[in-house]
Amino acid sequence: MAEEFLFLGGDPSVDLVNTTFHRQSPGGADELLTSGERARRWFVQAGLLSEADATQLDEDTLLHGTRRMRAALDAVYRPLARRQPDEASTLRGLNVLNAVLGQGRERLEVTRQGEAFARASTFETLGPNDPNVQVARRAADLLHRLEPHRLKQCENPGCDLIFYDDSRNASRRWCSMEACGNQQKQARHRRHAAQKAAS
Ligand SMILES: [Zn+2]
Repeated sequence: MAEEFLFLGGDPSVDLVNTTFHRQSPGGADELLTSGERARRWFVQAGLLSEADATQLDEDTLLHGTRRMRAALDAVYRPLARRQPDEASTLRGLNVLNAVLGQGRERLEVTRQGEAFARASTFETLGPNDPNVQVARRAADLLHRLEPHRLKQCENPGCDLIFYDDSRNASRRWCSMEACGNQQKQARHRRHAAQKAAS
């Protein structure tokens, strides 16, 4: 069975980056977007694509566009998450992000609500539907409100998942407590126990 997608990044644009991980692994990175069908499933599960629209998409185009978008987001997010600013990487990523954003437009609508008015906005794709436009929109929102210290890479040295820490005091350290937090706690516990035994 194909591996489950991870939605622990705090934002779909961060979750997309986490569809590949273990980049430093000698056996090569783990890839969750192994096909156009998998890319389609990712967008549906991320809530960025309806089942009905999903069936309309060309899978090869989608897979190519999604991996390109992912690489661009990684180029922007990763240096920030690792506290290793890289202006060239950031600008390279933004170029792709802006090119994709250029395929969408904001549509504003005013509706009557009782005695008042409400304004709603939707971001829609010009031309062929590409859900990467929606992920680009989410990235633009996140970057706009970004507090850089909240964008982090998991503290487990063997894990390269990133996340946006929305917790009140920005104290989150792990991609997930189950996967990495407990593992790191146990490792620390074992180290302490070994040190005690040795002393
Ligand atoms: Zn982790």
